[in-house]
Amino acid sequence: MTTERATRGTINPWEVAQQQFDLAADRLNLDAGLRRVLREPRRELIVHFPVKMDDGSVQVFTGYRVQHNLGRGPAKGGIRYHQGVTLDEVKALAMWMTWKCAVVGIPYGGGKGGVIVDPKQLSQRELEGLTRRYATEISIIIGPERDIPAPDVNTNSQTMAWIMDTYSMHVGYTVPGVVTGKPIALGGSEGRNEATARGTVYCIVEAARHLNLDLSKATVAVQGFGNAGSIAARLIGEEGSTVVAVSDSTGGIHDPSGLDIAKVVAWKAEHGTVQGFPGATDVSNATVLEVDCDILIPAALENQITERNAGKIKAKIVAEAANGPTTPEADAILFANGVFQIPDILCNAGGVTVSYFEWVQDLNRDFWDEAEVNSKLKGIMVKAFKDCLAMSLRENVNMRTAAYLLAVQRVADATAMRGLYP
Ligand code: GLU
Repeated sequence: MTTERATRGTINPWEVAQQQFDLAADRLNLDAGLRRVLREPRRELIVHFPVKMDDGSVQVFTGYRVQHNLGRGPAKGGIRYHQGVTLDEVKALAMWMTWKCAVVGIPYGGGKGGVIVDPKQLSQRELEGLTRRYATEISIIIGPERDIPAPDVNTNSQTMAWIMDTYSMHVGYTVPGVVTGKPIALGGSEGRNEATARGTVYCIVEAARHLNLDLSKATVAVQGFGNAGSIAARLIGEEGSTVVAVSDSTGGIHDPSGLDIAKVVAWKAEHGTVQGFPGATDVSNATVLEVDCDILIPAALENQITERNAGKIKAKIVAEAANGPTTPEADAILFANGVFQIPDILCNAGGVTVSYFEWVQDLNRDFWDEAEVNSKLKGIMVKAFKDCLAMSLRENVNMRTAAYLLAVQRVADATAMRGLYP
């Protein structure tokens, strides 16, 4: 945790996001005007809002909602609750959503929201109050045709239910399409909860095929044990791989003979941490990235793989279930060392893809079963992976740059075709 904070503190995700964009823009010879447009967010909303706490006091929280680009459709992207949230982080996450939606070809721009709060310190009632007031503050820019939030770090289907209800109360009728990642009973989609992890595993299966890696003999380390990490650990086990290390924000555990993920999930539910799991060795969060394994899944926060530790990574595949886990300097080191990266904007796009399915189902009042959701998700993920791989081989660039070349070109084309208003 100390390492995580120290590293995250010194690297600004917005500078990373702009650097990644610049690399692609240079290669694409992007028109200078377009470049200036796409390099900045379209809208940034900062809100300071009061919440009545359980002890009767009133606290003021700060939140953000950023819309990076609206060229291909409404803004789309999650809301995170974390004590380390900054405006620059939310700007970076919003820009990454723009490219992510373009990589998988769904009709959205990019957005993101965040509130500076450690939700683990709040009661359920305080969390509801915070969520409803934050939703009220950002309601001036969200809506099913304008900007559609979803879960992200430390938010979930309950958070989305409160936002949906708050928005609906304001307009006077029920608007399921204003957020995705809702409970099924409120117009959520089958398969949405597992979608980020499922998309990551579809990408890993394709990468393993490309590299001739036998997944039934592969070992895996997962950093982060939230929605993406814990479910990815379970699903990769269904491919026959052995998970040898996992971590959460409190630290990690390592067992070279393999961890029983269902039991680790139960242990964390009971003890609030993966650490202390019987039979495994407690290790630091940073160590989990460097253990002996074939596949590393960073599924926590930004800036975890940097120039300081990239050279120590032993995995053959790094599958970025998190947003922004790797810095540009670390990308170069991994590429030089022959590590195959599946970049965030491709690797974790399963979440927003099923969010898109959820939104379509809500707007049509027509709901699909899980098999249909998963098969459509697989089709989109596999095609996006193949498009990126073909681009990477053709241009001799890493998979991140390949994904950016595809995405930035799509957004640039849409922007250019629409023309400059007025
Ligand atoms: N927060 C997720 C992401 O970073 C999902 C966003 C969404 O479904 O809109 O991709």
